[in-house]
Amino acid sequence: MQDNFLLYNTLTRETEPITPHEPGKIAMYTCGPTVYHYAHIGNLRSYIMEDVLEKALRYAGYDVKRVMNITDVGHLASDADTGEDKMLKGAKREHKSVMEVARFYTDAFFADCEMLNIKRPDVVEPATGCIPDFIRMVESLLEKGYAYEAGGNVYFDTGKLSDYFVFSSAVEKEQLKVGVRDDVEEDRNKRNKNDFVLWFTRSKFEDQALKWDSPWGVGYPGWHIECSCIAIRHLGEYMDLHCGGVDNIFPHHTNEIAQSEAYLGHRWCRHWFHVNHLNDQSGKMSKSKGDFLTVSLLKEKGYDPLAYRMFCLQSHYRKPLVFSFENLDNAAAAYGKLVRKIAGIAPEGEVDQEAFEEYRSRFKEALFGDLNTSMAITVVYDVVKADISGGTKLALLKDFDRVLSIGLTKEGAVLPENTPEADEELERFIREKIEERALAKKSKDFGRADAIREELLARGVAIKDTREGTVYELQH
Ligand code: AMP
Ligand code: ZN
Repeated sequence: MQDNFLLYNTLTRETEPITPHEPGKIAMYTCGPTVYHYAHIGNLRSYIMEDVLEKALRYAGYDVKRVMNITDVGHLASDADTGEDKMLKGAKREHKSVMEVARFYTDAFFADCEMLNIKRPDVVEPATGCIPDFIRMVESLLEKGYAYEAGGNVYFDTGKLSDYFVFSSAVEKEQLKVGVRDDVEEDRNKRNKNDFVLWFTRSKFEDQALKWDSPWGVGYPGWHIECSCIAIRHLGEYMDLHCGGVDNIFPHHTNEIAQSEAYLGHRWCRHWFHVNHLNDQSGKMSKSKGDFLTVSLLKEKGYDPLAYRMFCLQSHYRKPLVFSFENLDNAAAAYGKLVRKIAGIAPEGEVDQEAFEEYRSRFKEALFGDLNTSMAITVVYDVVKADISGGTKLALLKDFDRVLSIGLTKEGAVLPENTPEADEELERFIREKIEERALAKKSKDFGRADAIREELLARGVAIKDTREGTVYELQH
Protein backbone atom coordinates (compact mmCIF):
# COMPACT_ATOMS: atom_id res chain seq x y z
CA MET A 1 0.00 0.00 0.00
CA GLN A 2 1.37 3.40 -0.94
CA ASP A 3 1.24 6.53 1.20
CA ASN A 4 -0.90 9.45 0.09
CA PHE A 5 1.41 11.87 -1.74
CA LEU A 6 0.34 15.48 -2.22
CA LEU A 7 2.06 17.47 -4.92
CA TYR A 8 1.34 20.80 -6.59
CA ASN A 9 0.13 20.33 -10.16
CA THR A 10 0.94 23.20 -12.56
CA LEU A 11 -1.91 22.08 -14.79
CA THR A 12 -4.69 22.41 -12.23
CA ARG A 13 -2.90 24.98 -10.04
CA GLU A 14 -3.79 22.86 -7.02
CA THR A 15 -1.86 20.76 -4.56
CA GLU A 16 -3.45 17.37 -5.04
CA PRO A 17 -2.76 13.68 -4.48
CA ILE A 18 -0.80 11.79 -7.09
CA THR A 19 -3.23 9.34 -8.68
CA PRO A 20 -1.37 7.06 -11.07
CA HIS A 21 -3.03 5.51 -14.08
CA GLU A 22 -1.94 2.08 -12.90
CA PRO A 23 -2.30 1.80 -9.12
CA GLY A 24 1.04 1.62 -7.32
CA LYS A 25 3.10 2.51 -10.39
CA ILE A 26 4.37 5.89 -11.51
CA ALA A 27 5.37 6.63 -15.07
CA MET A 28 7.64 9.67 -14.71
CA TYR A 29 9.32 11.75 -17.39
CA THR A 30 12.02 14.39 -17.04
CA CYS A 31 13.12 16.82 -19.74
CA GLY A 32 16.83 16.15 -20.02
CA PRO A 33 19.72 18.50 -20.77
CA THR A 34 20.61 20.11 -24.08
CA VAL A 35 24.15 18.80 -24.31
CA TYR A 36 25.96 21.67 -26.02
CA HIS A 37 27.65 22.85 -22.84
CA TYR A 38 28.13 21.92 -19.20
CA ALA A 39 25.03 21.92 -17.01
CA HIS A 40 25.11 24.94 -14.73
CA ILE A 41 24.16 24.71 -11.08
CA GLY A 42 20.72 26.16 -11.97
CA ASN A 43 19.96 23.22 -14.28
CA LEU A 44 21.23 20.98 -11.52
CA ARG A 45 18.85 22.54 -9.01
CA SER A 46 16.03 21.20 -11.19
CA TYR A 47 17.62 17.75 -11.45
CA ILE A 48 18.32 17.60 -7.69
CA MET A 49 14.68 18.38 -6.87
CA GLU A 50 13.41 15.90 -9.47
CA ASP A 51 15.74 13.27 -7.99
CA VAL A 52 14.37 13.92 -4.50
CA LEU A 53 10.85 13.67 -5.89
CA GLU A 54 11.58 10.31 -7.53
CA LYS A 55 13.18 8.98 -4.34
CA ALA A 56 10.35 10.31 -2.17
CA LEU A 57 7.83 8.53 -4.39
CA ARG A 58 9.76 5.28 -4.04
CA TYR A 59 9.95 5.91 -0.28
CA ALA A 60 6.14 6.25 -0.33
CA GLY A 61 6.00 2.75 -1.82
CA TYR A 62 5.47 3.51 -5.51
CA ASP A 63 7.11 1.53 -8.24
CA VAL A 64 8.60 4.35 -10.33
CA LYS A 65 9.82 4.13 -13.90
CA ARG A 66 11.64 7.32 -14.87
CA VAL A 67 12.63 8.29 -18.40
CA MET A 68 14.84 11.17 -19.51
CA ASN A 69 15.71 12.43 -22.98
CA ILE A 70 19.03 13.91 -24.02
CA THR A 71 18.57 16.80 -26.43
CA ASP A 72 21.29 16.40 -29.03
CA VAL A 73 19.46 17.90 -31.99
CA GLY A 74 16.74 20.42 -32.79
CA HIS A 75 16.88 22.85 -29.85
CA LEU A 76 17.32 26.27 -31.44
CA ALA A 77 18.73 29.29 -29.64
CA SER A 78 15.21 30.59 -29.03
CA ASP A 79 12.59 28.17 -27.69
CA ALA A 80 10.30 29.56 -30.39
CA ASP A 81 12.06 27.87 -33.33
CA THR A 82 14.35 30.72 -34.27
CA GLY A 83 18.11 31.18 -34.20
CA GLU A 84 20.86 28.69 -34.57
CA ASP A 85 20.73 25.06 -33.37
CA LYS A 86 22.36 25.03 -29.94
CA MET A 87 24.31 21.84 -30.71
CA LEU A 88 25.80 23.39 -33.83
CA LYS A 89 26.74 26.44 -31.82
CA GLY A 90 28.59 24.17 -29.35
CA ALA A 91 30.36 22.31 -32.16
CA LYS A 92 31.56 25.56 -33.78
CA ARG A 93 32.75 26.92 -30.45
CA GLU A 94 34.86 23.84 -29.80
CA HIS A 95 35.85 22.93 -33.37
CA LYS A 96 34.40 19.45 -32.88
CA SER A 97 31.64 17.47 -34.53
CA VAL A 98 28.14 17.73 -33.10
CA MET A 99 28.23 14.11 -31.96
CA GLU A 100 31.58 14.61 -30.21
CA VAL A 101 30.15 17.59 -28.37
CA ALA A 102 27.00 15.62 -27.48
CA ARG A 103 29.00 12.68 -26.15
CA PHE A 104 31.35 14.87 -24.13
CA TYR A 105 28.63 16.94 -22.43
CA THR A 106 26.35 13.95 -21.86
CA ASP A 107 29.19 12.27 -19.94
CA ALA A 108 29.94 15.53 -18.12
CA PHE A 109 26.27 15.83 -17.14
CA PHE A 110 26.17 12.35 -15.61
CA ALA A 111 29.49 12.96 -13.85
CA ASP A 112 27.92 16.07 -12.26
CA CYS A 113 24.86 14.04 -11.32
CA GLU A 114 27.04 11.45 -9.65
CA MET A 115 28.83 14.11 -7.59
CA LEU A 116 25.43 15.36 -6.46
CA ASN A 117 24.05 11.88 -5.69
CA ILE A 118 21.45 12.24 -8.43
CA LYS A 119 20.32 8.78 -9.51
CA ARG A 120 20.47 7.99 -13.21
CA PRO A 121 16.92 7.65 -14.60
CA ASP A 122 15.84 4.11 -15.56
CA VAL A 123 15.86 5.05 -19.25
CA VAL A 124 18.05 7.72 -20.85
CA GLU A 125 17.33 8.30 -24.52
CA PRO A 126 19.13 10.68 -26.89
CA ALA A 127 16.85 12.38 -29.44
CA THR A 128 19.05 11.29 -32.36
CA GLY A 129 18.28 7.65 -31.49
CA CYS A 130 14.54 8.05 -32.14
CA ILE A 131 14.24 9.84 -35.49
CA PRO A 132 11.96 7.17 -37.09
CA ASP A 133 9.52 7.56 -34.14
CA PHE A 134 9.45 11.34 -34.67
CA ILE A 135 8.73 10.91 -38.37
CA ARG A 136 5.88 8.50 -37.61
CA MET A 137 4.30 10.92 -35.15
CA VAL A 138 4.58 13.84 -37.58
CA GLU A 139 3.00 11.71 -40.33
CA SER A 140 0.14 10.81 -38.03
CA LEU A 141 -0.41 14.46 -37.02
CA LEU A 142 -0.55 15.39 -40.71
CA GLU A 143 -3.05 12.60 -41.39
CA LYS A 144 -5.25 13.71 -38.50
CA GLY A 145 -5.22 17.29 -39.75
CA TYR A 146 -3.28 18.76 -36.81
CA ALA A 147 -0.23 19.61 -38.90
CA TYR A 148 0.51 21.26 -42.23
CA GLU A 149 3.43 21.72 -44.60
CA ALA A 150 4.53 25.23 -45.46
CA GLY A 151 7.74 26.61 -46.93
CA GLY A 152 9.34 23.17 -46.74
CA ASN A 153 8.77 22.72 -43.00
CA VAL A 154 6.01 20.85 -41.15
CA TYR A 155 4.15 22.85 -38.49
CA PHE A 156 1.73 21.97 -35.74
CA ASP A 157 -1.53 23.86 -36.22
CA THR A 158 -2.43 25.29 -32.81
CA GLY A 159 -5.59 26.77 -34.37
CA LYS A 160 -7.06 23.23 -34.37
CA LEU A 161 -7.12 23.11 -30.57
CA SER A 162 -9.88 24.52 -28.41
CA ASP A 163 -7.47 25.04 -25.51
CA TYR A 164 -3.83 25.43 -26.47
CA PHE A 165 -2.61 27.49 -23.47
CA VAL A 166 -3.36 24.72 -20.99
CA PHE A 167 -1.17 26.04 -18.19
CA SER A 168 -2.52 29.58 -18.23
CA SER A 169 -5.32 31.24 -16.31
CA ALA A 170 -8.22 32.80 -18.25
CA VAL A 171 -6.65 36.28 -17.99
CA GLU A 172 -3.22 35.04 -19.09
CA LYS A 173 -4.83 33.25 -22.05
CA GLU A 174 -6.28 36.50 -23.34
CA GLN A 175 -2.91 38.25 -22.96
CA LEU A 176 -1.10 35.42 -24.72
CA LYS A 177 -3.54 35.48 -27.63
CA VAL A 178 -3.11 39.19 -28.35
CA GLY A 179 0.46 39.74 -27.21
CA VAL A 180 3.35 39.37 -29.63
CA ARG A 181 6.54 38.20 -27.99
CA ASP A 182 9.37 40.61 -28.76
CA ASP A 183 11.96 37.86 -28.99
CA VAL A 184 10.15 36.01 -31.75
CA GLU A 185 10.93 36.74 -35.36
CA GLU A 186 7.88 36.40 -37.53
CA ASP A 187 7.76 33.20 -39.58
CA ARG A 188 5.42 33.86 -42.52
CA ASN A 189 4.84 30.14 -43.04
CA LYS A 190 2.90 29.88 -39.78
CA ARG A 191 -0.90 29.95 -39.91
CA ASN A 192 -1.13 30.97 -36.26
CA LYS A 193 1.36 32.91 -34.19
CA ASN A 194 1.98 30.01 -31.79
CA ASP A 195 2.30 27.23 -34.36
CA PHE A 196 5.59 25.40 -33.96
CA VAL A 197 7.87 23.37 -36.16
CA LEU A 198 7.62 19.58 -36.06
CA TRP A 199 10.11 18.94 -38.85
CA PHE A 200 12.51 21.35 -40.53
CA THR A 201 13.71 20.94 -44.06
CA ARG A 202 14.41 24.59 -44.56
CA SER A 203 15.36 27.32 -42.14
CA LYS A 204 17.54 30.36 -41.91
CA PHE A 205 20.76 28.40 -41.81
CA GLU A 206 21.84 25.80 -44.30
CA ASP A 207 24.74 24.22 -42.48
CA GLN A 208 22.81 22.00 -40.06
CA ALA A 209 25.20 19.16 -39.25
CA LEU A 210 22.73 16.33 -38.60
CA LYS A 211 20.06 15.63 -41.19
CA TRP A 212 17.81 12.69 -41.94
CA ASP A 213 15.69 11.65 -44.86
CA SER A 214 11.96 12.07 -44.34
CA PRO A 215 8.75 12.13 -46.40
CA TRP A 216 9.14 15.94 -46.49
CA GLY A 217 12.75 15.96 -47.63
CA VAL A 218 16.08 15.84 -45.86
CA GLY A 219 15.87 17.66 -42.56
CA TYR A 220 15.75 17.43 -38.79
CA PRO A 221 13.15 17.44 -36.01
CA GLY A 222 11.81 20.39 -34.05
CA TRP A 223 12.68 20.41 -30.37
CA HIS A 224 9.32 19.58 -28.75
CA ILE A 225 8.54 16.38 -30.66
CA GLU A 226 11.35 14.45 -28.98
CA CYS A 227 9.86 14.49 -25.49
CA SER A 228 6.41 13.36 -26.64
CA CYS A 229 7.86 10.49 -28.69
CA ILE A 230 10.42 9.34 -26.16
CA ALA A 231 7.88 9.44 -23.33
CA ILE A 232 5.25 7.49 -25.29
CA ARG A 233 7.85 5.00 -26.52
CA HIS A 234 9.00 4.08 -23.01
CA LEU A 235 6.03 4.87 -20.79
CA GLY A 236 3.07 4.14 -23.02
CA GLU A 237 0.03 6.28 -23.76
CA TYR A 238 -0.59 7.44 -20.20
CA MET A 239 1.94 9.27 -18.11
CA ASP A 240 1.56 10.12 -14.45
CA LEU A 241 4.17 12.78 -13.83
CA HIS A 242 6.17 15.10 -16.06
CA CYS A 243 8.97 17.31 -14.71
CA GLY A 244 11.11 20.24 -15.76
CA GLY A 245 12.16 23.74 -14.81
CA VAL A 246 9.56 26.54 -14.92
CA ASP A 247 11.00 27.89 -18.18
CA ASN A 248 9.81 24.65 -19.80
CA ILE A 249 6.13 25.44 -19.12
CA PHE A 250 5.80 27.63 -22.18
CA PRO A 251 6.31 26.88 -24.98
CA HIS A 252 7.94 23.46 -24.48
CA HIS A 253 5.45 21.63 -22.25
CA THR A 254 2.50 23.44 -23.77
CA ASN A 255 3.61 22.14 -27.18
CA GLU A 256 4.33 18.65 -25.85
CA ILE A 257 0.74 18.42 -24.59
CA ALA A 258 -0.69 19.82 -27.83
CA GLN A 259 1.03 17.30 -30.06
CA SER A 260 0.79 14.27 -27.73
CA GLU A 261 -2.92 14.65 -27.05
CA ALA A 262 -3.66 15.37 -30.72
CA TYR A 263 -1.73 12.22 -31.61
CA LEU A 264 -3.20 9.99 -28.88
CA GLY A 265 -6.73 11.37 -28.92
CA HIS A 266 -6.97 11.45 -25.13
CA ARG A 267 -5.54 13.10 -22.02
CA TRP A 268 -1.81 12.31 -21.78
CA CYS A 269 -0.17 13.34 -18.52
CA ARG A 270 -2.07 14.24 -15.38
CA HIS A 271 0.49 15.78 -13.06
CA TRP A 272 3.04 18.46 -14.00
CA PHE A 273 5.92 19.30 -11.64
CA HIS A 274 8.01 22.42 -12.24
CA VAL A 275 11.06 23.59 -10.33
CA ASN A 276 11.55 27.31 -9.98
CA HIS A 277 14.79 28.94 -11.05
CA LEU A 278 18.11 29.40 -9.43
CA ASN A 279 18.96 33.07 -9.90
CA ASP A 280 22.18 34.90 -9.39
CA GLN A 281 22.60 38.63 -8.82
CA SER A 282 22.01 39.33 -12.51
CA GLY A 283 18.88 37.15 -12.81
CA LYS A 284 18.20 33.62 -14.08
CA MET A 285 21.30 31.51 -14.44
CA SER A 286 21.51 30.42 -18.08
CA LYS A 287 23.92 28.61 -20.37
CA SER A 288 23.58 31.14 -23.15
CA LYS A 289 25.13 33.81 -20.91
CA GLY A 290 28.34 31.78 -21.27
CA ASP A 291 29.67 32.70 -17.86
CA PHE A 292 28.02 30.29 -15.43
CA LEU A 293 28.79 28.17 -12.43
CA THR A 294 29.24 24.43 -12.68
CA VAL A 295 29.47 21.84 -9.96
CA SER A 296 33.12 21.15 -10.88
CA LEU A 297 33.88 24.81 -10.37
CA LEU A 298 32.30 24.69 -6.93
CA LYS A 299 34.41 21.62 -6.18
CA GLU A 300 37.56 23.39 -7.35
CA LYS A 301 36.72 26.20 -4.98
CA GLY A 302 36.68 23.66 -2.17
CA TYR A 303 32.96 23.04 -1.76
CA ASP A 304 31.62 19.55 -1.27
CA PRO A 305 29.01 19.10 -4.06
CA LEU A 306 26.68 17.66 -1.43
CA ALA A 307 26.77 21.01 0.37
CA TYR A 308 25.21 22.44 -2.81
CA ARG A 309 22.59 19.69 -2.71
CA MET A 310 21.87 20.63 0.91
CA PHE A 311 21.64 24.30 -0.15
CA CYS A 312 18.94 23.35 -2.68
CA LEU A 313 17.06 21.15 -0.24
CA GLN A 314 16.89 23.94 2.30
CA SER A 315 14.42 25.85 0.14
CA HIS A 316 11.12 24.88 -1.44
CA TYR A 317 11.24 23.85 -5.10
CA ARG A 318 8.42 26.21 -6.07
CA LYS A 319 10.23 29.32 -4.88
CA PRO A 320 13.02 31.04 -6.79
CA LEU A 321 16.36 30.50 -5.07
CA VAL A 322 19.04 33.16 -5.00
CA PHE A 323 22.57 31.93 -5.35
CA SER A 324 25.50 33.79 -3.79
CA PHE A 325 28.71 32.46 -2.34
CA GLU A 326 27.67 33.89 1.00
CA ASN A 327 24.46 31.82 0.92
CA LEU A 328 26.39 28.75 -0.18
CA ASP A 329 28.95 29.29 2.58
CA ASN A 330 26.17 29.28 5.14
CA ALA A 331 24.77 26.04 3.75
CA ALA A 332 28.25 24.49 3.53
CA ALA A 333 29.06 25.43 7.12
CA ALA A 334 25.74 24.01 8.32
CA TYR A 335 26.32 20.88 6.26
CA GLY A 336 29.85 20.38 7.58
CA LYS A 337 28.64 20.83 11.13
CA LEU A 338 25.75 18.41 10.66
CA VAL A 339 27.74 15.56 9.15
CA ARG A 340 30.46 15.96 11.76
CA LYS A 341 27.86 15.76 14.52
CA ILE A 342 26.38 12.64 12.96
CA ALA A 343 29.80 11.04 12.57
CA GLY A 344 30.22 11.51 16.31
CA ILE A 345 27.07 9.54 17.17
CA ALA A 346 28.02 6.18 18.68
CA PRO A 347 26.01 3.30 17.21
CA GLU A 348 24.84 2.20 20.63
CA GLY A 349 21.59 0.88 22.00
CA GLU A 350 18.64 -0.94 20.51
CA VAL A 351 16.55 0.77 17.86
CA ASP A 352 13.57 2.22 19.70
CA GLN A 353 10.73 1.29 17.32
CA GLU A 354 8.26 3.79 18.72
CA ALA A 355 10.65 6.71 18.36
CA PHE A 356 11.72 5.43 14.95
CA GLU A 357 8.14 5.45 13.67
CA GLU A 358 7.39 8.82 15.23
CA TYR A 359 10.27 10.62 13.48
CA ARG A 360 9.70 8.68 10.30
CA SER A 361 6.10 9.80 10.12
CA ARG A 362 7.16 13.44 10.62
CA PHE A 363 9.70 13.04 7.81
CA LYS A 364 7.04 11.56 5.54
CA GLU A 365 4.57 14.28 6.40
CA ALA A 366 7.11 16.87 5.24
CA LEU A 367 7.99 15.13 1.97
CA PHE A 368 4.52 13.95 1.06
CA GLY A 369 3.14 17.45 1.63
CA ASP A 370 4.31 18.99 -1.65
CA LEU A 371 7.93 17.93 -1.19
CA ASN A 372 8.78 20.17 1.74
CA THR A 373 12.47 19.35 1.83
CA SER A 374 13.44 22.10 4.26
CA MET A 375 10.98 20.71 6.78
CA ALA A 376 12.42 17.23 6.15
CA ILE A 377 15.86 18.64 7.03
CA THR A 378 14.43 20.11 10.22
CA VAL A 379 13.39 16.57 11.15
CA VAL A 380 17.00 15.47 10.54
CA TYR A 381 18.20 18.10 13.05
CA ASP A 382 15.53 17.06 15.52
CA VAL A 383 16.69 13.44 15.33
CA VAL A 384 20.32 14.46 15.87
CA LYS A 385 19.50 16.31 19.06
CA ALA A 386 16.75 13.95 20.29
CA ASP A 387 16.96 12.08 23.56
CA ILE A 388 17.02 8.64 21.91
CA SER A 389 19.71 5.98 21.52
CA GLY A 390 22.55 6.44 19.05
CA GLY A 391 21.39 3.28 17.30
CA THR A 392 17.91 4.74 16.75
CA LYS A 393 19.35 8.01 15.48
CA LEU A 394 21.63 6.33 12.98
CA ALA A 395 18.87 3.99 11.76
CA LEU A 396 16.63 7.01 11.14
CA LEU A 397 19.32 9.07 9.42
CA LYS A 398 20.25 6.19 7.15
CA ASP A 399 16.59 5.77 6.27
CA PHE A 400 16.10 9.51 5.55
CA ASP A 401 19.19 9.58 3.38
CA ARG A 402 17.52 7.18 0.95
CA VAL A 403 15.60 10.28 -0.14
CA LEU A 404 17.79 13.25 0.79
CA SER A 405 21.03 11.65 -0.44
CA ILE A 406 23.35 14.11 1.26
CA GLY A 407 25.71 11.52 2.69
CA LEU A 408 24.32 11.77 6.21
CA THR A 409 25.72 8.45 7.33
CA LYS A 410 28.30 7.81 4.66
CA GLU A 411 31.14 6.01 6.30
CA GLY A 412 34.43 7.81 6.16
CA ALA A 413 32.79 10.89 4.66
CA VAL A 414 33.70 13.09 7.57
CA LEU A 415 36.12 13.17 10.39
CA PRO A 416 34.45 11.80 13.49
CA GLU A 417 34.28 14.09 16.46
CA ASN A 418 35.35 13.34 20.00
CA THR A 419 38.05 10.78 19.31
CA PRO A 420 41.72 11.70 19.82
CA GLU A 421 42.75 10.26 16.42
CA ALA A 422 40.07 12.26 14.62
CA ASP A 423 41.05 15.43 16.41
CA GLU A 424 44.67 14.86 15.44
CA GLU A 425 43.75 14.20 11.84
CA LEU A 426 41.58 17.30 11.66
CA GLU A 427 44.28 19.40 13.29
CA ARG A 428 46.82 18.18 10.72
CA PHE A 429 44.41 18.89 7.86
CA ILE A 430 43.73 22.44 9.08
CA ARG A 431 47.44 23.18 9.57
CA GLU A 432 48.23 21.97 6.04
CA LYS A 433 45.48 24.11 4.59
CA ILE A 434 46.54 27.20 6.52
CA GLU A 435 50.11 26.72 5.27
CA GLU A 436 48.92 26.24 1.69
CA ARG A 437 46.85 29.41 2.00
CA ALA A 438 49.79 31.39 3.32
CA LEU A 439 51.86 30.29 0.31
CA ALA A 440 49.01 31.20 -2.07
CA LYS A 441 48.78 34.67 -0.50
CA LYS A 442 52.52 35.11 -0.74
CA SER A 443 52.42 34.40 -4.46
CA LYS A 444 49.42 36.74 -4.74
CA ASP A 445 47.06 33.91 -5.73
CA PHE A 446 44.18 35.38 -3.75
CA GLY A 447 41.59 33.26 -5.60
CA ARG A 448 43.25 30.10 -4.30
CA ALA A 449 43.59 31.61 -0.82
CA ASP A 450 39.86 32.40 -0.74
CA ALA A 451 39.03 28.92 -2.03
CA ILE A 452 41.00 27.38 0.86
CA ARG A 453 39.15 29.55 3.36
CA GLU A 454 35.87 28.36 1.84
CA GLU A 455 37.01 24.74 1.83
CA LEU A 456 37.75 24.96 5.53
CA LEU A 457 34.46 26.69 6.21
CA ALA A 458 32.64 23.92 4.40
CA ARG A 459 34.11 21.57 6.99
CA GLY A 460 33.04 23.74 9.88
CA VAL A 461 36.39 25.50 10.38
CA ALA A 462 36.49 29.31 10.44
CA ILE A 463 39.90 30.96 10.08
CA LYS A 464 41.00 34.44 11.05
CA ASP A 465 44.19 36.32 10.23
CA THR A 466 45.64 37.99 13.33
CA ARG A 467 48.94 39.73 14.06
CA GLU A 468 50.13 36.49 15.60
CA GLY A 469 49.27 34.55 12.43
CA THR A 470 46.24 32.64 11.22
CA VAL A 471 44.05 31.14 13.91
CA TYR A 472 41.06 28.87 13.57
CA GLU A 473 37.84 28.09 15.35
CA LEU A 474 35.64 25.00 15.07
CA GLN A 475 32.03 25.96 14.49
CA HIS A 476 30.10 23.46 16.59
P1 AMP B 1 18.50 22.76 -20.78
O1 AMP B 1 19.76 21.97 -20.71
O2 AMP B 1 18.71 24.19 -21.10
O3 AMP B 1 17.51 22.12 -21.75
O4 AMP B 1 17.84 22.75 -19.34
C1 AMP B 1 17.80 21.62 -18.52
C2 AMP B 1 16.83 21.81 -17.36
O5 AMP B 1 17.25 22.87 -16.49
C3 AMP B 1 15.41 22.19 -17.80
O6 AMP B 1 14.47 21.44 -17.02
C4 AMP B 1 15.30 23.67 -17.49
O7 AMP B 1 13.97 24.05 -17.25
C5 AMP B 1 16.16 23.75 -16.23
N1 AMP B 1 16.72 25.10 -15.96
C6 AMP B 1 17.27 25.97 -16.85
N2 AMP B 1 17.74 27.09 -16.21
C7 AMP B 1 17.48 26.92 -14.89
C8 AMP B 1 17.71 27.70 -13.70
N3 AMP B 1 18.35 28.88 -13.74
N4 AMP B 1 17.31 27.20 -12.51
C9 AMP B 1 16.69 25.98 -12.43
N5 AMP B 1 16.45 25.19 -13.52
C10 AMP B 1 16.83 25.63 -14.72
ZN1 ZN C 1 10.96 18.04 -22.83
